[in-house]
Amino acid sequence: MKAIVKFALGEDGMGLLDVPEPIPHEGELKVKVLAAGICGGDVHCMKDERLAIMPVTLGHEFVGQIVETCGDVGDFKVGDWVVTLPACYSCGECDFCKAGMVTLCAERKSIGSYVDGAMAEYVVVPAKYSFKVPDEVEDKIPYALSEPFIVGVHGAYERVRVNPGDVVVVSGPGQIGLLAMQAFKTRGAYVIVSGLKADADRLNLALQLGADAVADSMEKLKEEIRMVNPAGADIVVEAASHPSSLRDCLEVVKVRGQLLYLGYFGGRDVTFRFDTIHEKELDIYGSNSTTMASWEIGMKLINERKVDLAPLVSMKLPLSDWKRGFEAVINKEAYKVVFCPDMDE
Ligand SMILES: [Zn+2]
Ligand SMILES: [Zn+2]
Repeated sequence: MKAIVKFALGEDGMGLLDVPEPIPHEGELKVKVLAAGICGGDVHCMKDERLAIMPVTLGHEFVGQIVETCGDVGDFKVGDWVVTLPACYSCGECDFCKAGMVTLCAERKSIGSYVDGAMAEYVVVPAKYSFKVPDEVEDKIPYALSEPFIVGVHGAYERVRVNPGDVVVVSGPGQIGLLAMQAFKTRGAYVIVSGLKADADRLNLALQLGADAVADSMEKLKEEIRMVNPAGADIVVEAASHPSSLRDCLEVVKVRGQLLYLGYFGGRDVTFRFDTIHEKELDIYGSNSTTMASWEIGMKLINERKVDLAPLVSMKLPLSDWKRGFEAVINKEAYKVVFCPDMDE
């Protein structure tokens, strides 16, 4: 089968290869991939900013249909549609694994970086970390965004404290920011999405998807916050993975406010004024991927249509167009690029 494989360091170390179809073992599902999204993490792998065990098929955000099962797979059967928590190969025995926080397991092996992922015709995943997509859903492709949405759910439901009406600033209107904005809306927050002048389209989409306000400059952002809470933002969410965005967040957050760090700086050092944390008595929360509990919450929100993932799928490509897909993500030409192996012929 065809697969997008990272096989060596350097930008030439990636390509569309012919690889054997994966074989499910005890408790696993073999899934025919309907759609697999490109995540910032895949771009970090491509650029060698995040460790991958090579060779490995990339891709951890997907939706697909079960074509084969092996051993005890609970309620799952051939024909079911599924999505899966990516860090699905973990030790299973440490305190984090037992609590469903598999992403924090020291032994965690995520699909798409440690074991073969979903940018291929087929992927194999454990049943116990998979979740069903309702059969009756007509367009299942947006479910490929379940994982990045649930990254926002983990932050909004399991890391920061949110009270209805809290003023939340999401800095960075990329796909993680727009998905996190929707997660915070389901918690009853007042959400302002901030970006740059160049982000006009993204900020418009933020409004369409339910943001209460948007800002394309620091002045505008301060004004929008002042109108609803003169003390400042209750919660700031860094979702741009940019040092200046982090500095802006620290500037507009209120005294005793909370900072949620959803971004990822690709291992780079970042300069900001640390004393702000002391002076404002801030609570800073890291938020790393997802947990089993956040998938339960997130899948319920998606299935009950409390959020809208479809408008974020802006480019569907065959696997063979992988270069174009990655370039579109790097050049910010698309919100979410998904590979649909059915388009390859
Ligand atoms: Zn991802
Ligand atoms: Zn573990």
